[in-house]
Amino acid sequence: MLRSHNCGELNIKDIDKKVVLCGWVQKSRDLGGMTFIDLRDRYGITQLVFNMNTDAELCKKARKIGREYVIKAKGIVVERSNKNKNMPTGEIEIIVNDLEILNESKVPPFTIEDNTDGGEALRMKYRYLDLRRNVNKNNLVLRHKMAMEIRNYLNAADFLEIETPFLIKSTPEGARDFVVPSRMNTGKFYALPQSPQTFKQLLMIAGLDRYYQIVRCFRDEDLRADRQPEFTQIDCEMSFVEQEDILNIFEGLAKHLFKTIKNIDADTFPRITFADAMKYYGSDKPDIRFDMKFVELNDVMQGKGFKVFDDAEIVVGICAENCGSYSRKQLDKLTDFVKKPQVGAKGLVYIKCNDDGTFKSSVDKFYSQEDLKIVAEKTNAKPGDLVLILSGETEHTRKALCELRLEMGNRLGLRDPEKFAPLWVTDFPLFEWSEDKQRFLAKHHPFTAPKPEDLDLLEKDKKNVRSNAYDLVINGNEIGGGSIRIHDKNLQKRMFRALGFTEEQAQQQFGFLMNAFEYGAPPHGGIAFGFDRWCAVLSGSESIRDFIAFPKNNSGRDIMIDSPSSISDEQLDELNLKNIEKE
Ligand code: ASP
Repeated sequence: MLRSHNCGELNIKDIDKKVVLCGWVQKSRDLGGMTFIDLRDRYGITQLVFNMNTDAELCKKARKIGREYVIKAKGIVVERSNKNKNMPTGEIEIIVNDLEILNESKVPPFTIEDNTDGGEALRMKYRYLDLRRNVNKNNLVLRHKMAMEIRNYLNAADFLEIETPFLIKSTPEGARDFVVPSRMNTGKFYALPQSPQTFKQLLMIAGLDRYYQIVRCFRDEDLRADRQPEFTQIDCEMSFVEQEDILNIFEGLAKHLFKTIKNIDADTFPRITFADAMKYYGSDKPDIRFDMKFVELNDVMQGKGFKVFDDAEIVVGICAENCGSYSRKQLDKLTDFVKKPQVGAKGLVYIKCNDDGTFKSSVDKFYSQEDLKIVAEKTNAKPGDLVLILSGETEHTRKALCELRLEMGNRLGLRDPEKFAPLWVTDFPLFEWSEDKQRFLAKHHPFTAPKPEDLDLLEKDKKNVRSNAYDLVINGNEIGGGSIRIHDKNLQKRMFRALGFTEEQAQQQFGFLMNAFEYGAPPHGGIAFGFDRWCAVLSGSESIRDFIAFPKNNSGRDIMIDSPSSISDEQLDELNLKNIEKE
């Protein structure tokens, strides 16, 4: 090793030791007789000292060294007179007696500091410099620890880590595939996996019983905020299990991570059905760090002559505690918020619960104090609180009220990133209507098992078929999802038919799985977690990008390596991409 110690480990116990340190120059200060250099590596920062009076040559050499130079310094550990209690090495410094420049550096395009002056695009372009900053480095350290603890937990539970192929077959269901042309099979394409779903099911048929993989997945989706075209899943599958077993094992994994990463002892996770999540929170990934549940008010608010409410499918409200003193201006702002296109409400009705027990609402014309009192009781509003009400078509109104609830949660400081509220959402619908395609699609994927009691509805009433599918949600983020699978070939055929596949299409696309089902498929089920997201949520961060070493930008580009980019004519030729003939 070129060094005897790293830059984060020396302290008062090491006084008088002869040491050799290597690292990058964070900054250097020249104070006339003395020159100080902060030397940084992955482990920390140690102060180096050069004294003009004792070694003028060396001191002059040190003065010439610029930021981010890579150096090797030999010296002696001494106690600092000016101690910095905020850093682990802050009580010592190194009096240097030998200095070697291992490599020079250009002046970096932004400062390598916690609060950098570099904009996002510049930092993405020089990601290797950005990764020298503590925040990013710490995120990667956390990611590593998470991966290690996940493996520890799953290995101890007899899971096998098994790799599945990246070059697979394109399937039209789900998101858009990234495709890779095959040189050896002219005019043919592989697809990159959106998830190893079918392979993990085949591993269960193979008898491997418990599988996991921390695996890259690829989805060519339009990049909404904080999505990456390639991301990592913790992908798991188990045989001879029911939903309850999966929820228990993976609640165990989540608790293990809370404990080992955050030192939190989590209680049993609450469970809520999809239907109730929509009814009470207007979302299938409710943030339950705070209550503020929806209360339906049709019975009190309709039939009193207020046309907007009378014509609505649903009238639904929430109680914002201690907001009864909101000014006209604050209420106007909230009205503007709900009218934003992203929220999409037409207007907002409020009821202020005055301290003297009276009420003041934006619809006083239509409602008596008695009516408003009933609303207050239903919504649990006390004097000083504010009831906010939206109305309209059910699904749309619930979604808008969900946004308003989250906004009020933010305003009231109820969404503390250091507080964690996990829950399971269960009983997802099996199908989802697609406006685009004008047909029902699988809400999770076509291998998800319907609830046995809803089997009869598969052909008759798709909208109301529930499935054995579940999501793990933490702080309003979907962390993972999975399902019990269909393992019966006839039911799988029925499912494909219900999704509008002809027998031939099903055979062509999923024949390999259907055939495998002919050879003794065990009952099985599984789940996959978004690893990047889980890292971000446990760190109280909104952005998965910060937990990926080399992420892509909002347009799916890696601006550091300039990808995607054109390929040469020769490559195009070789791949036969100049004139692909359709079969
Ligand atoms: N493959 C599914 C997904 O990526 C997860 C699962 O059902 O296990 O969402």
